[in-house]
Amino acid sequence: MPPGHRSDLNRSDLNANHTAETTSDIIHSITTRAIHAGTRPDPTTGAILTPIFQSTTYVQEAVGQHKGFTYSRADNPTVAALEARLGALENAPPSVCYATGLAAETALFLAFLKAGDHAVLSDAVYGGTVRLFQQILDGLSIRSCFVDTSSPEAVARAITPATKLVFIESPGNPTLKLTDIAAVARITHAAGCLLAVDNTFLTPILQQPLDLGADFSLYSTTKYIEGHNATVGGAITTRDQTKIDRLRFIRKSIGSIQAPFEAWLTLRGITTLPLRIKQHSINALKVARHLESHPSVARVSYPGLLSFPQHTLARRQHISRDGVEHHGGIVSFEVHGGIEAGIAVMNNVKLCSLAENLGAVETLITHPASMTHADVPIAQRASIGLSEGLIRLSVGLEEPNDIIADLDRALLIATHKPLSRSSERNATCLNAL
Ligand code: PLP
Repeated sequence: MPPGHRSDLNRSDLNANHTAETTSDIIHSITTRAIHAGTRPDPTTGAILTPIFQSTTYVQEAVGQHKGFTYSRADNPTVAALEARLGALENAPPSVCYATGLAAETALFLAFLKAGDHAVLSDAVYGGTVRLFQQILDGLSIRSCFVDTSSPEAVARAITPATKLVFIESPGNPTLKLTDIAAVARITHAAGCLLAVDNTFLTPILQQPLDLGADFSLYSTTKYIEGHNATVGGAITTRDQTKIDRLRFIRKSIGSIQAPFEAWLTLRGITTLPLRIKQHSINALKVARHLESHPSVARVSYPGLLSFPQHTLARRQHISRDGVEHHGGIVSFEVHGGIEAGIAVMNNVKLCSLAENLGAVETLITHPASMTHADVPIAQRASIGLSEGLIRLSVGLEEPNDIIADLDRALLIATHKPLSRSSERNATCLNAL
C-alpha cells in the first residue's frame, strides 16, 4: 500500500474520546501514526502512555487460557505496543523488536539462511554486519559475498544457485553509497531470493523499502528511531505474516527480545521522529555545504549535495515531505593531510562528541576505521573507499552554525589554516562550552 493510504489505526488504537466516525474515515499521515498508532490509553487508569510492563510472567485463567502474553522472552505488552507503532509506519503488521540492531540481523539470518546457503550483501555496510557474516555465520557454513550493490548488474552477477538472501544498506555506512532498491528488488525476486534493506540511516519517514519491493526493512532503533542516545534496540518489518511468525519463533528460541523499559523509551522517541529526522536533514545539508566549500576539506559525501554522484537516485528514492528534500543526518568527509589531519580534527572538536553511534540529538563524530568498521579487513575497507582518514559525522539537532564553528575550529588546529571571520566569532563563543 502506498504511503498516505487510510491508516491501519482502528478505534481502539486512538484516544478513547474519538468516536468510530472520527477515526475510521480519517486518512492518517505518517506524522500522526508516529504519535498514535498501536497505543491507546491504559484501560485501567486512563494513563495516556503505555505503561512499562516490567513483568516476567502473566497469570493464566486456566490451562491454555491467557490474554495473549505468557512469558516476556516470547512477548511483552510494552514491546507489543512498540511493534504495532513501528509496523504502522510502513503500512505493515506489527514489526518484530529485538534487544539490538545486530540481534535483529542475527534473527533474520538464522530465520532465512541455513548451512550451505549464500547471501549477497552491500560492500558498504555497518562493520558489525560484515563481522557477523565473516566471523560467525561463515563458521556455520553460511557463505556471503560483499558487492557494490549500487550496480544492480553486480548484484545479478553475484547471485548463485545457493543465494537465498540479498541484504543491502542504503545509504551505506559510512560512505553513504546508495542502492536502487526497486531495481535490486526486481533482480532479487527474479532469482527467487529475499531482499532485506537496512533502513537505519533514513527510517520509514524518508525511505519506505517495502513500497520499493523489499521483503524486509531492518532497523537499529538505537539510532534515529529512539533518537536520544538512551537505548540499544532493533526491529524488522515485513508485510508477510508467515515471515513474521518465523522471526518471532527465532526470537523466542534464541532469547533476543527487546526489554520493556527500552521499548517504552523507543516508543516515546518515535513520537518526534518525523520532526527530528527532517531537522537532522536540514542541519546536515547546511554542514555538508559548508564543508564542501572549506579549503581544508578534500571530499564530502552527502546525498543531498549536487556533487553527490547518485544525487538523482537520492531525489527519487528518498521521500520529500512538505516539498522539502530530506536525505538524513549523516555526512562523511576527508580532510587534506590524510589520516593524521583527520584524526586531529576528531581530537579537537568540542561541541561534537567523539563517539560511536549515530542518529541522536547530539552531534557525534566517529572514526570508522578504528571504531565502527575496525573489524572489516583493511583491504575490504580500502575497496569501498573507506579510507583511514574518513570522518563520519552524525549531525545532531544543535544550531547548525554552532556545529560548523566547532568543525572550523578543529579544522584550523588540524591543518593550520586561517578561520573565516564569522567562524572566528562562533569559535570564540564555543570556547566557553
Ligand atoms: N545497522 C546499522 C546501519 C548500524 O549503523 C548499526 C550500528 O551502528 C547496526 C545496524 C547495529 O545496530 P546495534 O548497534 O543496535 O546492534
